[in-house]
Amino acid sequence: MEDCIFCKIANGEMGTLIYENEYVAAFDDINPQAPVHTLVVPKKHIESIEDLHFGGENHECNHDEPCDGKYIKELFKAIKEVAKIKGISESGYRVISNCGKDAKQTVNHLHFHIIGGRELNVQIL
Ligand code: 5GP
Ligand code: ZN
Repeated sequence: MEDCIFCKIANGEMGTLIYENEYVAAFDDINPQAPVHTLVVPKKHIESIEDLHFGGENHECNHDEPCDGKYIKELFKAIKEVAKIKGISESGYRVISNCGKDAKQTVNHLHFHIIGGRELNVQIL
């Protein structure tokens, strides 16, 4: 989508990717909240969790036009891959996706924050 900063980063038009495949991309947050703070995004412009569509019960994924279930699977595979790249698979990490106004989502392109590299607070609010 034009004018979407995360579409531009995911498509390699700006910034540095630390991981990518056909479906997803990962890059470090511009304003890190911990030693590791990386964002994982789909290469398809999906605004938030609320805009995910999974098809019907007997839906079969078509490779030419993958359903959002395929993106979710790839996003979580990428989260594990990023944790490995960053060396925090063993020590642990927190995954957050802000959705909508009350959660203070500021970039309207679905993204998962991977936060770690130090002991995090018990409270997340
Ligand atoms: P949200 O509040 O929408 O969940 O988080 C958006 C995140 O994107 C914030 O943590 C913010 O620092 C990060 N961010 C915003 N613009 C850019 C950018 O241009 N590049 C990168 N790498 N991160 C960004
Ligand atoms: Zn986008």
